[in-house]
Amino acid sequence: MKEVLLGKTASELQEIALQAGLPAYAGKQLAQWIYQKRVTDFEAMTNLSKAARAALSARYEVGRTAPVEAFTSRDGTRKYLFPTRVPGKYIETVMIPQYEDASEGGLARATACVSSQIGCKMGCRFCMTGRGGFHGQLSAAEILSQLLGIDEAEQLTNAVFMGMGEPLDNWSEVSRALTVITADWGLGWSPKRVTLSTIGVLPVLPHFLDESHCHLAVSLHNPFPEERAALMPVQKGWPLQEVIRLLRKYDFTGQRRVSFEYTMFAGVNDSARHADALARLLRGIPCRINLIRFHAIPDSPLRTSSPETIAAFQARLQRAGITTTLRASRGEDILAACGLLAGKGLRKPDPEP
Ligand code: SF4
Repeated sequence: MKEVLLGKTASELQEIALQAGLPAYAGKQLAQWIYQKRVTDFEAMTNLSKAARAALSARYEVGRTAPVEAFTSRDGTRKYLFPTRVPGKYIETVMIPQYEDASEGGLARATACVSSQIGCKMGCRFCMTGRGGFHGQLSAAEILSQLLGIDEAEQLTNAVFMGMGEPLDNWSEVSRALTVITADWGLGWSPKRVTLSTIGVLPVLPHFLDESHCHLAVSLHNPFPEERAALMPVQKGWPLQEVIRLLRKYDFTGQRRVSFEYTMFAGVNDSARHADALARLLRGIPCRINLIRFHAIPDSPLRTSSPETIAAFQARLQRAGITTTLRASRGEDILAACGLLAGKGLRKPDPEP
């Protein structure tokens, strides 16, 4: 099997060039072709000699995967199905457009919601991905393919690691992908365009905070330890309260932002008692809370809170001085909304690999 170059750093590409008998600057040329000109074939790398291209293609491949299916929602959200190295298992990437005005003229923002794992080990009770279990890690190449391989790749303005999987449970590959995305020799994006969402993998979180400048989103969902543990088993091993204690050591007053995701479950976490405890928990942290309407999943008693309850919850947090927004629900009709990603397209049988 050939070694994949997508996901390699500039210095690794330089080493590969030297090993192939090319001058060191050929490493820089490789990075330009793969990350900036975005070619997928050595034959297109026209400033490398024919012999160099042949030497490289004998041992390496660019290794970008293309989606096998795409679905478009009524609201313009698009969901892509990508194959993985695990036969019969697919991951999903969602592209969320934001338009200039209501007439849906120009695209103001295009955000890719990328997956970091094939399934997930974390077992959150409200999530279709968690329900499907864990089937493997994605490589940096598979993560980057989601940004480079979709139709809107050239228009993307932002990326959020909020798709399938827990990104900090695959830190080595996710960190490699973040490096490529934000490096000058890579995609050259500002880290302000990237947000990583985690349920709070405590041992790995300091690595993300120290080694990257990307924004952080924490899936919170309940301020009370026992109630949160009933929704999110992670709470038993890595309590939210310790995550918050860690976050207090970092500065979120500058360029880097932290936000907290809070899915609204009727009668479970949507009372004034919860809002007050949430405000107490986050007091003093410059942050934003994103409230999310829950999208019901099969065989679950969980239901979304009513619009009135959500509005009252939001107003109570705002009065406590916490910026709180209600995230618009996108792509529900193509099962692309939060918590609905299952790697199965539209619940059709898996396409043949
Ligand atoms: Fe995994 Fe995130 Fe789903 Fe929890 S919510 S099971 S961490 S994908």
